[in-house]
Amino acid sequence: MRLLLHICCAPCSVMCIKTLREENILVDGFWYNPNIHPYTEYQNRLNALKEYSKMIDLNVIYEDYYGLKEFTKNVIDILDNRCSYCYLNRLEKTVLYAKENGYDAFSTTLLISPYQNHDLIKKICEQLSIKHNIKFIYKDFRKYYFIGKDIFKDTKLYMQKYCGCIFSEEERYLGENKKYDFSNISFIRNNNNFEFKKIENNENIINKILDENISKEEIYNLINNSLIYGLKKDGKFISYVILLPFSKDILELKYLFTKKEYRNKGYANKILKIIYGNYKQNYQKMIIGLKEDQIPFFIKQGFNEFYERKNDLIYYVKNLK
Ligand code: SF4
Repeated sequence: MRLLLHICCAPCSVMCIKTLREENILVDGFWYNPNIHPYTEYQNRLNALKEYSKMIDLNVIYEDYYGLKEFTKNVIDILDNRCSYCYLNRLEKTVLYAKENGYDAFSTTLLISPYQNHDLIKKICEQLSIKHNIKFIYKDFRKYYFIGKDIFKDTKLYMQKYCGCIFSEEERYLGENKKYDFSNISFIRNNNNFEFKKIENNENIINKILDENISKEEIYNLINNSLIYGLKKDGKFISYVILLPFSKDILELKYLFTKKEYRNKGYANKILKIIYGNYKQNYQKMIIGLKEDQIPFFIKQGFNEFYERKNDLIYYVKNLK
């Protein structure tokens, strides 16, 4: 099958291309992103894809059009709903090219980002598929989002810091960031032996961490209203983290636990890096109350002492931005 893959940017393309190629699908890339502003940013992302496509021997068709004026004219009255215009504009162009040039199917790297409106992208693609009579290959690539970024970082090519349009740039640096719920996505990290999962069964975790010197009551207090995640290695949970939204901008790290046999092997570090990455869009800062002996580890993580002390705990804070 010959598939035309709309590519929003090189980092997002990494795992989409890998996954499709592993299924023996012949992939060509298609660059058409008039939503990326300002011009220097557009060029940086375009050049990153040009370099990356050479590295992975990917044929890319470039519709090289910097569309600031047209894009802003079209979205200025629908700013809160601008992404639907943005998706449709880019995806329909892709579909038309695919149809005119004999491709069997199309898809898009937009399906990898947990920050995008995944359901809307899927719906638009399904509608375009019917309208233009071409197959849409749907895959929920989101679980590969972070591993794709990690792989791309090694290329040392340019990686963007906001979605694309000038309005998303303003939101990223000045405005209120949107809140994202990643609770339904199990991200795969670094290699296939690791999986990072939201844990829904709180009773289960109580039993798992009871062998620590911590009472059942304390655990219940910890997990009430909290978000609990686990790091799985080779199918087994080895590390857990309990997080509690402390305020609109601050996330509290209530508890970090690694099974005895897996300690001092870098797993706590790994789970924290995942948490920082997952939550930096939603929260400005992370705080944690520490006992004296825990402080050196968290200083290495970039935490600094915070003025507040409660219940023998010294509070530390880290900027997530
Ligand atoms: S936020 Fe991103 S998807 Fe939405 S309109 Fe801007 S560039 Fe397009």
